[in-house]
Amino acid sequence: MTNTEFLIVGQGISGTFLSWYLHRAGRSFVVIDKNDPASSSRVAAGIINPVTGRRVVKTWMIEEILPFAVNAYEMMGRELGIEAITEKKMIEFFPSAQMRMAFSERGAGSHQDYISLPGDESIFFESFNYELGFGEISPCYLVNLPGLLLSWRNRLKKENSLIEDTFSEHDLKVHSQILYKNIAADKIIFCDGIYSSTNRFFRNLPFALNKGEALIIHSKDLSPEFIYKKNLTLAPLGNERFWVGASYEWDFTDNLPSDAFRDSAIKTLSTWLKKPFEVEDHVASIRPATVERRPFVGTHPWFPSVGILNGMGTKGCSLSPYFANQFVNHLTKNTPILPDVDISRFSGILKSSLQ
Ligand SMILES: Cc1cc2nc3c(=O)[nH]c(=O)nc-3n(C[C@H](O)[C@H](O)[C@H](O)COP(=O)(O)OP(=O)(O)OC[C@H]3O[C@@H](n4cnc5c(N)ncnc54)[C@H](O)[C@@H]3O)c2cc1C
Repeated sequence: MTNTEFLIVGQGISGTFLSWYLHRAGRSFVVIDKNDPASSSRVAAGIINPVTGRRVVKTWMIEEILPFAVNAYEMMGRELGIEAITEKKMIEFFPSAQMRMAFSERGAGSHQDYISLPGDESIFFESFNYELGFGEISPCYLVNLPGLLLSWRNRLKKENSLIEDTFSEHDLKVHSQILYKNIAADKIIFCDGIYSSTNRFFRNLPFALNKGEALIIHSKDLSPEFIYKKNLTLAPLGNERFWVGASYEWDFTDNLPSDAFRDSAIKTLSTWLKKPFEVEDHVASIRPATVERRPFVGTHPWFPSVGILNGMGTKGCSLSPYFANQFVNHLTKNTPILPDVDISRFSGILKSSLQ
């Protein structure tokens, strides 16, 4: 029998940061992960963008969350010997005159710390077709998700803290403690992405799952210095490869790459990008998004030995370091969880899911 304090299900970006902060706090844990190549963290671009939407507004809590996340990735990168995060400027080509106006209004006002209009609007004429100019968003960041997930996974394996397997709820016994096969734990924490939306403890939480697809292209003449955006986002992956995405599909029947996305992305890219490109891969996943666009963090109000860190939606890279740290402080020092994300706000519906 293995005895541990925390059993973590999932090593996407949420489970990675949860186990990272528990590790730093000197607490014992075991992670079970099935290494699903179609999990959201393995398909995402890894972009952290401080502003969002056609109205170009700052994303929720960005002033607090962004410096925290950057510091966390840098620290983790140093410890794992990888470049975990890179600062990039985002070039946003305006799809409409309204967007250009919103951009220049925000840039002159409350958002001038993140957005600006360039001096010379012709500098990307060689690479892209655009008629309405562009704005710059800075600082943006690109997280090296593949490198980070793999390096942390290898560290966990070395320390005998990772089980590569599919967790089965059928084998879980929950009392004041947790029993799962030959593991006894004080608590189990679900960081299993979309699968929490069907488990018996959390299925009533207001998830709003959303499918996203992306292409991986090779283009040797395009500068990897920037992230480019106009309807699609083009993010540099290194070695002349770029991530191109993504779709936001509310109606879907599977998590597979579709011909419809591939055809429309190639068409859009062909009219936007002037440089030649080849499609190398096509990926798809389902985002663990939520109706309120706020994460789900905390222990179950009726089963204190069962917890969740989930619901990161489109922003797992920025939200997960901050809320994993907050959750670990809560678990180890009993400090509060931000009410906006604390799942105790759903205690009524969480009770009814068990009846
Ligand atoms: C196309 C696309 C583009 C995106 N781009 C960005 C972006 O640029 N920036 C950004 O911040 N966010 C982006 N996102 C969102 C981001 O991917 C998510 O917010 C984030 O990855 C969620 O991480 P997670 O760890 O909570 O869940 P997941 O990444 O889904 O991880 C869940 C983990 O649990 C494991 N697991 C699940 N079930 C079991 C089981 N039964 N047994 C064992 N293991 C299990 C899986 O193997 C996986 O490792 C994008 C998403 C998509 C789909």
